[in-house]
Amino acid sequence: MTRAPRLAPDMPDRQAIMSMRASILPTLVLPHLVLGAVLATLAMQGQWATALAGRPLGMEDLLLPGLFAELALLLAQLVLWRLRFGLLSRTIEQMVTQDAAEIPWQNRRGALGQLAEALLKLRQARRGTKVVLERSRETHAQLQQESSARREAEVKNLLALSVYAHLDEAVFFSSPQGVILQVNPAFERLLGYPAHRVEGRTSAELLMPDNPALHQAIMGVLRRDGLWQGEAALRRADNRHLPTDLTCRAIKDADGTIRHVMGVFQDLSERRSARARLHELTHHDPLTGRLNRASFMSTLREVLAARQAPIQALLLVGIDRLKAINDTLGHRTGDHVLREVAHRLGQTLRKNDILARIGGDEFAILMPAFENTEQAKAFAMSHAESLLTRLRDPIQLDRDHYSLKITASLGIAFSPHDGNQAEALLQAADLALLAVKRAGRDQASLYLPSLGERINQRFRIEQGLRRALENREFEIFMQPLIEAGSAELKGFECLIRWTQGGTTPISPADFIPVAEEIGMIEPITEWIVREGCRHLASWRRSTRRELFISINLSPRHLLRDDLAQMLLEALRPHGLSASALLIELTEGGLVGGLELVHERIHHLAMHGFQIAIDDFGTGHSSLGMLTELPIDKLKIDQSFVRDRVPHDPEAVKVLDAMLALARELQLPVVVEGVETLEQAQLIRSRNSQALLQGFYFDRPQSAFSWDGRLLDGTLPNYKF
Ligand code: C2E
Ligand code: CA
Ligand code: CA
Repeated sequence: MTRAPRLAPDMPDRQAIMSMRASILPTLVLPHLVLGAVLATLAMQGQWATALAGRPLGMEDLLLPGLFAELALLLAQLVLWRLRFGLLSRTIEQMVTQDAAEIPWQNRRGALGQLAEALLKLRQARRGTKVVLERSRETHAQLQQESSARREAEVKNLLALSVYAHLDEAVFFSSPQGVILQVNPAFERLLGYPAHRVEGRTSAELLMPDNPALHQAIMGVLRRDGLWQGEAALRRADNRHLPTDLTCRAIKDADGTIRHVMGVFQDLSERRSARARLHELTHHDPLTGRLNRASFMSTLREVLAARQAPIQALLLVGIDRLKAINDTLGHRTGDHVLREVAHRLGQTLRKNDILARIGGDEFAILMPAFENTEQAKAFAMSHAESLLTRLRDPIQLDRDHYSLKITASLGIAFSPHDGNQAEALLQAADLALLAVKRAGRDQASLYLPSLGERINQRFRIEQGLRRALENREFEIFMQPLIEAGSAELKGFECLIRWTQGGTTPISPADFIPVAEEIGMIEPITEWIVREGCRHLASWRRSTRRELFISINLSPRHLLRDDLAQMLLEALRPHGLSASALLIELTEGGLVGGLELVHERIHHLAMHGFQIAIDDFGTGHSSLGMLTELPIDKLKIDQSFVRDRVPHDPEAVKVLDAMLALARELQLPVVVEGVETLEQAQLIRSRNSQALLQGFYFDRPQSAFSWDGRLLDGTLPNYKF
């Protein structure tokens, strides 16, 4: 039996212990070497990271690797003690398996002591590992917290930097002595210096070279209060002075020592001009640059209160049909017209006259200095006439070399006669203007007290019209149209009648323009067309004649997209075709080359509606227009016939010329205002195809009375 080598008296097995030492040594030393290497590498990495990350790395960056190194060291110790433990347990085993007597008592105790020590160290090492692990966990969490806090701080820093870079306000930092350290782009922009020409110079020398006292005062206040605010003119690179609102703030340490000074300023001249622009906007009309209504009224109040001269004149100029221009030629053209009118009116102003745009299409001119009423009236009237003449000159439209002819209406009132308060004077001039518009526009008129009553009447019409349809106050009247050669009834013109409140008849000439203005003309026309079609259908059935009806369409209604649709829907329930309807359009609404109006007329003709030009000869129609538009009939205005034909040879000549023109253009005619047999015969002798309309044949009568005459199938006898 081979025996295990005997243990030396002081050591269980010297050889084993030696080999154990040999293995322990590297295990003990190596981790320390590794740790050193790791730390050195990290330190170097720190430099690279500094270069890469753009920030120096702190001790906290080495903490985690350090902990790992410590852990590795402990693990190495653990392994070492395990080795030792193994060695000792082998010794114990030897002691147990060998004859106990062969091992000296001391050796036995020594081995047991070492074993106990090994166990203790092992336990300690284990505990140490645990502690290190726990610590590493804590440190890790702490580091994570710190790094997210640092990231947040970095983002904040970046934001602050970008705000600083993009700020409208100029910002600079200087030392407590005023040496400029850093400026932002707004500083460079506002003062015209590039940053490199600024940094290193003192704020006193750079910004306030000609006001050292102010600079000193600012520094004094900063030392005392930490803050200075005020207006300061700073010198720009081009030597001009920039007015600024400057704020200087001392940036202090925890112990109150000033470390830096921060200055912030804005260009006050920009703000001042913005203030001026705001003032301009609130007091002036942006389109024409003239005073607006509010500031004109306050000026008017001041002028009237000051009473520097006995009489003041107020002229109100209203552009005629500006709305139609806007609707048909577009707002750009409307704006162009307004600017041109403002320009022309501006050219006529005398020294103390004040011009303002006080409404969409209205200008006011205040002429403040007349000695007496007669002088004021004479001057204002002649001035008004020359203004209107000037406004009639064609306005050149920039596109396509078109020019546009416009007219204006003018109302005049005087203070103190017509009103000694601003509002009353303006109202008086407004009434005079309204009266001109009612009377056909393109004129000037002085205010008269009786105008008030007429305006009140207009107001009553307006109010009444809004309820007239639902109160069934309208009635449809029909006036026949007779063919001259055959004396046969061919159709009817539908004419509306209104009895306000069931008692007061109001002429269509009075209420139709109001209905157009307040937007009631569309529902009224729709009603007329529907009623007209209903009656026509029944008369066609009873008389077995292809009768037609004509309806009057206002130019405003012509602009509606759904007009053709509305007309077709009125015809459809009665099985009537579009040709049963003659649409009468007044010349006045067609002149001016309004493309949209022309387009609509073509559109209606395409649907098969007949088109007539009403009141022909009264407007300013051009022959070109008559050939361009798809016109089916010309209605010669009653003023060419009524009262004048046949006794006035001139009138007969004009009528003849018009009939010849219609023949040339191969246009059928309708002659209105036929009141006598002679008139009817004369027209028949010139044109047997002409249709005649007038009191000689029939006055307009209600559609219901025509029901009574036509529904039994008999036709009126118009033989002449
Ligand atoms: P208008 O279209 O020229 O209509 C003809 C006007 O002349 C009618 O006046 C008619 O009663 C009148 N009249 C007809 N024959 C004679 C005659 O022999 N002698 C005289 N002295 N007058 C005659 P009314 O009905 O007062 O209409 C006036 C204007 O009102 C119309 O003129 C038309 O422009 C407008 N109007 C009438 N009804 C409507 C309507 O339903 N819609 C629109 N938009 N306008 C209408
Ligand atoms: Ca008519
Ligand atoms: Ca007419």
